[in-house]
Amino acid sequence: ASGYTLLRDPHHNKGLAFTEKERDAHYLRGLLPPAIVSQDLQERKLMHSLRQYDVPLHKYIAMMDLQERNERLFYKLLIDNVEELLPVVYTPTVGEACQKYGSIYRRPQGLYISLKEKGKILEVLKNWPEKSIQVIVVTDGERILGLGDLGCQGMGIPVGKLSLYTALGGLRPSACLPVTIDVGTNNEQLLNDEFYIGLKQRRARGQEYTELLDEFMNAVKQNYGEKVLVQFEDFANHNAFELLSRYSSSHLVFNDDIQGTASVVLAGLISALKLVGGSLADHTFLFLGAGEAGTGIAELIALKISKQIKSPVEEARKKIWLVDSKGLIVKSRLGSLQHFKKPWAHEHEPVKELVDAVKAIKPTVLIGSSGVGKTFTKEVVEAMASFNEKPLILALSNPTSQSECTAEEAYKWSKGRAIFASGSPFDPVNYEGKVFVPGQANNAYIFPGFGLGLIISGAIRVHDDMLLAASEALAAQVKQENYDKGLIYPPFSNIRKISAHIAANVAAKVYELGLASHLPRPKNLVKYAESCMYSPVYRSYR
Ligand code: NAP
Ligand code: MN
Repeated sequence: ASGYTLLRDPHHNKGLAFTEKERDAHYLRGLLPPAIVSQDLQERKLMHSLRQYDVPLHKYIAMMDLQERNERLFYKLLIDNVEELLPVVYTPTVGEACQKYGSIYRRPQGLYISLKEKGKILEVLKNWPEKSIQVIVVTDGERILGLGDLGCQGMGIPVGKLSLYTALGGLRPSACLPVTIDVGTNNEQLLNDEFYIGLKQRRARGQEYTELLDEFMNAVKQNYGEKVLVQFEDFANHNAFELLSRYSSSHLVFNDDIQGTASVVLAGLISALKLVGGSLADHTFLFLGAGEAGTGIAELIALKISKQIKSPVEEARKKIWLVDSKGLIVKSRLGSLQHFKKPWAHEHEPVKELVDAVKAIKPTVLIGSSGVGKTFTKEVVEAMASFNEKPLILALSNPTSQSECTAEEAYKWSKGRAIFASGSPFDPVNYEGKVFVPGQANNAYIFPGFGLGLIISGAIRVHDDMLLAASEALAAQVKQENYDKGLIYPPFSNIRKISAHIAANVAAKVYELGLASHLPRPKNLVKYAESCMYSPVYRSYR
C-alpha cells in the first residue's frame, strides 16, 4: 500500500511517525502535517488523552478506534500499560461494551457465523482477509462473563481475548481470528430490541446446534490445518463440557472457562503452599459452585494430587468437596446429578447450607465459584478461621458485586489470618496497621502463555498435563517480596516474561508427550518463546 491507502491500513499505518524518507517514497507528502512524531511520543499523547475520559466505556471505544486506525500503536499502549488498560479492553469494561455492542458496532472485527451460513461455513472462513490463522477464539454468546445470554453481541469477548493473546502472549495479530456463532438468543430484551444485530429467534438446541458447530469445527480444520488452536469461550455449561469432550480427540481445543480457570487457580494454590505449608495432598478443599469453573478446578487439583501421591485420580478426588445450588454433592444425589458433577458425589449425609458444609468438612481451602455474591458470610469465614491457622479463601465470582466476600471482609473476619485472592480486583486493605495486597486469579495470567506454548511447539492436541505445566510455571514466578504482602500471584507488569516461562514449560510438556510437530525441539525454550513474540515497535519502510 502507499499514499492514502497506506494511512488507511491499520496494519501499516504509523500516523505522524512516518519519516521524511518514507513520506517521499510512499506518496505521503501533503497527506500528513509536517511534524514527525516518534512512537513513544504518540503513546504518551494517547495515554494522556485516554486518562481524560471518566467513563470506562469511552476509553474502550477510544482503544477500539485506535486498533482500527493504527494496530501497532494500539498494542504498544496495551503492552506498556497493561495494568491500566487490561480492565479497559477486557473485564469489566468489555462486559459493558458487549451489552451495548449493537449501538457501538462500526466495522467488522471478527467473523459472524449464524444459522444462515449453514452449509457455507468454509466459504465464510475464506472471506476473512488473513489466511494463516493460529488461534481462534469462539463464543456462542450464551454466558458472557457473569452477564448471561448476550447473543451475537458477545463478539466483544473473542475480540478482547485475542488482543490479550497478542499483547500478553505475543501472538501475531494477523494470526488471531475472533468468531461469534449466532444460533439465536433467549434474551427477551435483545429479541425485542429493534437495534439488535443478531438473529432474532430463540436459541437453536439439539441437533440443529450440534450440526452447525460440527460444520464449523470441520471447516476450521480443513481451512487452517491440524495445528490451529480453537479456544471455546463463554459457552453455557451444558454445551461447554460437551464441546470440549467432543473435539478434544480430533482438534487442538481449549476451554478457558474450564481449563484456563483451573490452571490459574491451581497456580495460586501451589504458590499459597509456601504460606500455609504442607503439600497439596495434605489439604481439604470445599467449593461453592459446581459448574465450569468449580469442577474444572477440582479436576485439575485432583490430577495434581494423584501424581503426588501416586494413586488413581479417584483416590485424590476424595479430598475435594463441592456444593451446588442444592447443597453438598453427596452419593444420595447421584441419580439426579449432571454428569460432570458425578465424580464428586462422596459418601456423606445431605447438607443444605454452605456454613454447615464448612463445619462438617472442615476444609483448609474454600473456593467460591457460584457467581453469587456475599455467600462467604461472617459465620463462614469465622468457621474457616476457627480450625485453620491460615485459612485459604478464594472468592472467584465476577464481577466485583458477585464476589463471595470482599478482601476486607476476609481479612477482618479472620483477624488478618486469611490468605485471600479473588476473581475481580480489590484494593489493598489496611488491617490493624498491616497492609494486605489481595491477589487476582485472572485467567489472563495463563491463556496467552499457554496458547503460545502450544503454537511454538506445533502441538496437535491439548493434554491436562500441559495445564499442570502452565500452573507450575506461573507459581514459580511468585517472589518472596510478593509473598510478604500476602500475594499468591506475581504482579501483572511482568506478564510478557511470565508468559514466556509458561509457554516454555507447556511446550516442554508437548515435546515430552510426543504431541509436538515443530521439530527439532529448540534447546532453550524460554529464549525461543521470547524470540517468537510479536513486537509492536514500528517497522521502517524503504
Ligand atoms: P456455571 O457453570 O454456571 O456454574 C455455577 C455453579 O454455581 C453451578 O454449579 C450452580 O449450581 C452453582 N450455584 C449457583 N447459585 C448458587 C447458590 N446460590 N448456592 C450454591 N451454588 C450455586 O458458572 P461458571 O462458569 O462456573 O462461573 C461461576 C463464577 O465463577 C462466575 O461468577 C465467574 O465469573 C467466575 N469465574 C471466575 C474466574 C476467575 O476468577 N479466574 C474464572 C472463571 C469463572 P447448579 O449446578 O445447582 O445450578
Ligand atoms: Mn470466559
